[in-house]
Amino acid sequence: MLNIGCHLSNSKGYMNMCTVSASIGGNTFQFFTRNPRGGAAKDIDPEDASAAMTFMRDHAFAKILAHAPYTLNPCAERPEVREFTLNTMRDDLKRMEYTPGNMYNFHPGSHVGQGIEKGIELISEMLNAILEPSQSTTVLLETMSGKGSEVGSRFEEIREIIDRTELNEKLGVCLDTCHVYDGGYDIVNDLEGVLEEFDRVIGLGRLKAIHINDTKNPFSSHKDRHEKIGAGYIGIEAFGRIVNHTALRDLPFYLETPNEVEGYGEEIALLRSLVTEN
Ligand code: FE
Ligand code: FE
Ligand code: ZN
Repeated sequence: MLNIGCHLSNSKGYMNMCTVSASIGGNTFQFFTRNPRGGAAKDIDPEDASAAMTFMRDHAFAKILAHAPYTLNPCAERPEVREFTLNTMRDDLKRMEYTPGNMYNFHPGSHVGQGIEKGIELISEMLNAILEPSQSTTVLLETMSGKGSEVGSRFEEIREIIDRTELNEKLGVCLDTCHVYDGGYDIVNDLEGVLEEFDRVIGLGRLKAIHINDTKNPFSSHKDRHEKIGAGYIGIEAFGRIVNHTALRDLPFYLETPNEVEGYGEEIALLRSLVTEN
């Protein structure tokens, strides 16, 4: 069975996200740990968190994915931005322990003119400062489209961040289909070749989650604008190959397409209908 869900608002807590996801045929979900533009996170209700853990176990949910706010930049040039990022991520990881054993995704960041190498150095420095041996959360580096000065649009960059991180058994990768296609990996015409390259450079064992999005822009455009499934340049046939690929089909898929809850329900049904069970 395909493990799939969508991005949901966490304003009403974990149990609410569980029931909304289940009501649209999902068995996982993604959410922002706090306002995507940054700022304070509201207190976690431990009873809500534990009720959600029970619900997810009883309803065969796959791991849920928390997404760090967009405003963070682990490789910013300004030290105060890096400090804010570090404190926010450290706090997020502490909060993740209310729902142990799940995943936390972040954008590696933008080097803003300092250069890719400096960016990679700063990102791994931050990971070395926040990762704890005792944490139960897997931290995922998201593959990026390479817009502006984004780090993480080449598999080699992700690999180098992992290599420079001491506790890298806590690290994994979230592959965003819109981002990699925008970034110049042709998952439409050569999914096999892209996954072979991922395996050679990073290792498929690191791949823990898929952001499943179509793209508004053609191949290698480095734009990062998500489109509804089947309405963009990736297209429905390619998504059929993606959800059925032996290296991907058991991973959790998270939709981040421009949709409200109802539209997500339709996309979940559409993607489930593409699965050829054998
Ligand atoms: Fe993201
Ligand atoms: Fe994404
Ligand atoms: Zn994106």
